[in-house]
Amino acid sequence: MWFMFLTFIGGAGTVTGSKTIVEAGVLQDSGGPPAGQAIFLVDCGMFQGPREVRSRNWDTFPVDPSTIQSVILSHAHLDHCGYLPALVRHGFAGPVHCSPNTAELVPIILRDSARLQAEDTAWARKKGFSRHAAPESLYGIEDAERAISMLRPVEFGVGFHPAEGVTASLAHGGHILGSSTVTITDTTRDRTVVFSGDLGRGNHPLLSPPAPPCDADAIVVESTYGNREHDDVEAEMDEMAAAITRTLKRGGTVLIPAFAVDRTEVLLAALRGLQDQQRIPVVPIHVDSPMALAGLRVYVTAIQNGDPELNSAIVAEGPDAIDLPNLHEATTPQQSMALDQGGARIIVSASGMGSGGRVTHHLKALLPDRDNAVLLVGFQATGTPGRMLLEGAHEIKIHGKYVPVRAEIVEIEAFSVHADASELIDWLTSCRSKPTQVFVNHGEEAASRALANRIREEWDVAVIVPQAGERIYV
Ligand SMILES: [Zn+2]
Repeated sequence: MWFMFLTFIGGAGTVTGSKTIVEAGVLQDSGGPPAGQAIFLVDCGMFQGPREVRSRNWDTFPVDPSTIQSVILSHAHLDHCGYLPALVRHGFAGPVHCSPNTAELVPIILRDSARLQAEDTAWARKKGFSRHAAPESLYGIEDAERAISMLRPVEFGVGFHPAEGVTASLAHGGHILGSSTVTITDTTRDRTVVFSGDLGRGNHPLLSPPAPPCDADAIVVESTYGNREHDDVEAEMDEMAAAITRTLKRGGTVLIPAFAVDRTEVLLAALRGLQDQQRIPVVPIHVDSPMALAGLRVYVTAIQNGDPELNSAIVAEGPDAIDLPNLHEATTPQQSMALDQGGARIIVSASGMGSGGRVTHHLKALLPDRDNAVLLVGFQATGTPGRMLLEGAHEIKIHGKYVPVRAEIVEIEAFSVHADASELIDWLTSCRSKPTQVFVNHGEEAASRALANRIREEWDVAVIVPQAGERIYV
């Protein structure tokens, strides 16, 4: 008997740690272990956010990593690729399939992640605020380099074999440069499963809209914004222009925590537009993240090359759309620290939820002063500093110390590069035939449940919200 199982070991009940084990093969009639088993992963993300979520990165992997035949990455965000070096450290030997642009961006993300972990571990050791006597990194730079050497770029629409008896292909996902939906087919039963990955929006300022899903027997769809509809973009841009202008006029600094890859580019394009329309004053804009700067170069190259993932307007405008004349690059820690002296400037720094990276130092320095403003422009997961600020916290804990929150906190949703509930439904229902199963993952519980209910009501199809670790026959 042939089988295909999906096991959702991350991105279930949470928006981070996305990892799905796919198994296919023949079950022994004797009830013995499966023979000729194909086993591979779709995404290999790191858990991020509060300590209890991050601690899941240290859980024993549910299968021996040395038995995993390959990994397919939907895109280069850390919550979809950041665990890969840990998998390598524990015996995984490749290959890793992904789109060509993802293969450009993943090395930037993984090297930065390895470096940040080394820094955070050294900091925790020095300050002694870790619960562990000798805090250890999840992986080192050598593990990241080995993982990078396993990347195998494949063009959209070109078939490949993630394991024996299974074919796969990638299509444009429209979420960040390189992001892909993933289609896998068990060739023996001719059964097809499509993974949405993180799904983009029709109005991404740089990218073209996501490709519709091909006909599938089962679809795995993300639900980050499964219970939300995005606000009108123009109204949000007015709010952003007003918040930046009043902060700069009172001599304050505007801090924008941003995912280093894609969100930084989308923000820069928006700031350029607001500047050109004279809706905000022209002040120095500092991109303070080596990773964001490296990502920016990949986007600039893609624009110069007229990459088909980009929309025609941005290709026509050229690299100036995101490469602003008043852009300053902070590459060294000294340049980064100098930005915290205050004054009228805009700082864009990672991570996007304020949970790690250089932005934590800026938050510590800038939050206590009411002249400053923090613009939250992306999804803020439960338990992260960004979420606490959104919920009106009067103080937040950074590096083991409480920091008073006096700066203005403004939420701007216009920059979401995730489809909202209606856009997710539109994407799903654009397939020509209905699947027999839909799995809703990659969302916080309430968001996943709300989307599942809407799909059931509007499409009359079986919908499952998998639990973390649940193994499901498809
Ligand atoms: Zn993503």
